[in-house]
Amino acid sequence: MSAPNSDYDPKQVAALGEDEVAQARDAALAAIEAADSLDALKAVRIAHTGDRSPLALANREIGALPPQARKDAGKRIGQARGAVNQALAARGAALEALEEERRLVEETVDVTLPTDREPVGARHPITTIQEHVADLFVAMGWEVAEGPEVEAEWLNFDALNLGPNHPARTMQDTFWVSPERAALVLRTHTSPVQARSMLTRTPPIYVVCPGRVYRTDEADATHMPVFHQVEGLAIDRGLSMAHLKGTLDHFAAAVYGPEVTTRFRPSYFPFTEPSAEVDLLCYVCHNDPGAVADCGTCRGEGWIEWGGCGVVNPRVLVACGVDPEEYSGFAFGMGLDRTITSRYDIADLRDLWDGDIRFTEPFGVGL
Ligand SMILES: [Zn+2]
Repeated sequence: MSAPNSDYDPKQVAALGEDEVAQARDAALAAIEAADSLDALKAVRIAHTGDRSPLALANREIGALPPQARKDAGKRIGQARGAVNQALAARGAALEALEEERRLVEETVDVTLPTDREPVGARHPITTIQEHVADLFVAMGWEVAEGPEVEAEWLNFDALNLGPNHPARTMQDTFWVSPERAALVLRTHTSPVQARSMLTRTPPIYVVCPGRVYRTDEADATHMPVFHQVEGLAIDRGLSMAHLKGTLDHFAAAVYGPEVTTRFRPSYFPFTEPSAEVDLLCYVCHNDPGAVADCGTCRGEGWIEWGGCGVVNPRVLVACGVDPEEYSGFAFGMGLDRTITSRYDIADLRDLWDGDIRFTEPFGVGL
């Protein structure tokens, strides 16, 4: 039985000697310093701290040393491994920062560079509301009718009970198309489309006519020489003001929301009898006595004028070839520009005409 190996064995210690450990450590530190990427550093980590690395192998040998030598070698190798791990961590952090910086530079987007992407634009609120109104009436079984903007004087006036000497004829400031003998006007309302509808269709007739109309008004915040109307005409047996009221209530609710309240105010139009103005209860102040005086939307009125309407005058039916003994009807007309300015609190009507996309964009595609 041999005695325990307690003697210092220089041969064995040689592999774990100061020089060898320092050499392994310095080789590791040099490789770490030379690693120029995180991938390269990963390879260095495996080579110098992995299971087969000189320091790991040396560490494994410690156990075989006599107790006296074990402590020295353990301390030496431990310090060397500590230095290598520390250098690895420091180099890793530095490389990560470098790579982050490189990525930021490579992925930088220069937002000032010109682009070939075209802006998609936005639908104009007039177009949107015209289509919205047309959809609403088509859903009730009505037709959308259109007519020319350069219109025969007779259809614009005479057929609608506005004879040559009718005082209301001068109320509409008309653009006449030369030569005068052509008897053509830029239509002052969409009503001639109603006359055309009656002349070309047989009752029952349910038509809605959105379109552009012209008056010789100066352009200002509340007037334009060109504006948009939507007009409706229903001709059938037994139609009355009640049907008109119900239709307009439905129309108003679709544009202004279900809480809207309408009222009819007696009025005069040559093409309807009886006639009424349609007002909407101000949806901002609700005609509340405490708020109405300061309300900018209705200008202290409590109600907002929306359009005109009435039961079709029998004289108009006769002029358009419809028998007033058999049929009756109702008609209404609203200014679409004013509908939009009141609905969205737009102070200046001219904003609708500037063509500035920053104005139209907030309306998006819905209304
Ligand atoms: Zn108000």
